[in-house]
Amino acid sequence: MDWHLGHAIAYTSKISPWFLESRKSFLQWSVLDSYYTAVSSSGAALFAEKVDFYKLQNGSDIRGVAVAGVEGEPVTLTESVTEAIAAGFAAWLLEKKKPSASKRLRVSIGHDSRISAQTLQDAVSRGISGAGLDVIQYGLASTPAMFNSTITEDEEFCCPVDGSIMITASHLPYNRNGFKFFTNAGGLGKPDIKDILTRAASIYEKVAVECIGHSEKAPVTVKRVDYMSIYTSNLVKAVRKAAGNIEKPLEGFHIIVDAGNGAGGFFPGMVLEPLGALTVGSQFLDPDGLFPNHIPNPEDKAAMKAITQAVLENKADLGIIFDTDVDRSAAVDSTGCELNRNRLIALMAAIVLEQHPGTTIVTDSVTSDGLTTFIEKKLGGKHHRFKRGYKNVIDEAIRLNSIGVESHLAIETSGHGALKENHWLDDGAYLMVKLLNKLASARASGVGGGSKVLTDLVEGLEEPAVAVELRIKIDQNHPDLKGGSFREYGEAMIKHLENKADTDPKLQKAPVNYEGVRVSGCGGWFLLRLSLHDPVLPLNIEAPCTEDAVKLGLFVLSTAKEFWLWIHQLWKNSFNHRKAATANFTSSSYTVCNRASATRPHFLFA
Ligand SMILES: [Zn+2]
Repeated sequence: MDWHLGHAIAYTSKISPWFLESRKSFLQWSVLDSYYTAVSSSGAALFAEKVDFYKLQNGSDIRGVAVAGVEGEPVTLTESVTEAIAAGFAAWLLEKKKPSASKRLRVSIGHDSRISAQTLQDAVSRGISGAGLDVIQYGLASTPAMFNSTITEDEEFCCPVDGSIMITASHLPYNRNGFKFFTNAGGLGKPDIKDILTRAASIYEKVAVECIGHSEKAPVTVKRVDYMSIYTSNLVKAVRKAAGNIEKPLEGFHIIVDAGNGAGGFFPGMVLEPLGALTVGSQFLDPDGLFPNHIPNPEDKAAMKAITQAVLENKADLGIIFDTDVDRSAAVDSTGCELNRNRLIALMAAIVLEQHPGTTIVTDSVTSDGLTTFIEKKLGGKHHRFKRGYKNVIDEAIRLNSIGVESHLAIETSGHGALKENHWLDDGAYLMVKLLNKLASARASGVGGGSKVLTDLVEGLEEPAVAVELRIKIDQNHPDLKGGSFREYGEAMIKHLENKADTDPKLQKAPVNYEGVRVSGCGGWFLLRLSLHDPVLPLNIEAPCTEDAVKLGLFVLSTAKEFWLWIHQLWKNSFNHRKAATANFTSSSYTVCNRASATRPHFLFA
């Protein structure tokens, strides 16, 4: 592992030749034209390949294919495209920060364990450096650490930086990669990403192939800094402080970490052990961008099974699992009970509400009814169920505070969670630190042992027997769409379902709802919403038994009778009764494939 690169080692060499003319060129795009003309007249070939930069946007992230070899997935995040995106970010940052003539802006760059990390880091460095900004490379790092570098005050480590880029595609397959961007105001939002991509597209189009793709591959001026040592020492300090300034508050605790070969391998050695915990049995700590053991994803069943097994086999007090870039996490208690999804939210809500009684907990839209009851009835807080998307959830919590509604926690079932006390940064490691604080302070006050103190906090949380997510794909080529967008079509479908639910006395529409249509009935509930990015209508159902789940599912499917829809993936997640449910669907008069002549599965109800 490459955590200790040494402080501030300067690597000097010549700066990329592209955009050398001036930083101003990024502020005034017209200057690009003169650069373009200069390049053209020098005989350099222009990029012939057309790139749709906007397709690389995934909400508030950029995502693409960075490694060739997977059929049907051509590389979209080439070095040239990456360099143009980095230059687009540099231009955006220069406009926002308006640096003085005497001070250059600096940008930190980190990456997760993906096999394309090095290549993209080099390309990003060229794009930033070529724009006249200073590049500070952190090497293997976590996403939250990158944000932290914009607020850390430590000149020895070149902090704070003005902007930060994390190279990651979170839990996606090995061939993907992408970027997250930060300033001291937090992660960039969708409009900023669009702006950066607009600039990148313009830069890409106007710069010659030889210049962008070859000549600037000369090394650029970068500094390398071991920033993770500062970031982790702050986490250690936070736990020590919470335990009453005890040096080793976790002494006697056995805590196992599963990093899934992502970037979270630092946690046992740099956080848990300095706090006194035993970490024997921790697994998959070494970075390996092919993720040979399991997907680093706390929502993934195989991943949760792996950490649960490790906890049980090692008779550990607690297990901790991170996603690839450590902005998401989950835990497992000493009995093997998974503390993820609704249970992790309940646990974090319990901890936060102890400190801030009555506060509002903002979550995503697929959280359970049982969670609402738990937060509001047992913990005395307020549950504000908002939309999917970690940035949506965090921004909503910030908005609530701005209008006088106190909120201290924004958290998604995916394991993204952000606290007001931690600058609203979604940090998987910090969430786990909050759990460690609880263990340490309980120990310090002589209460309980092992992870029971955590398990006790979620006692009383009602959980459904059946929880399932169905992803219904909209066939965009179908004539029913009449050339319209899948979004309009999907919204029409949701409206139709909403109207239908209104007429059924056995169903109750959720009175307050921010995404799709959420309906209670049969002792459970369903939520049909439109995916943020894809032509997919995810359908979440929770119910006390399979029969009730099927009833709710069939209600939705029967309502879709005017629509041609294609089931992309049935009963995908968290469903223990897969066969029974599928059988019920396929034997129903409403079902998917009951028209034998259908060339593909679709919903076409008579
Ligand atoms: Zn992530």
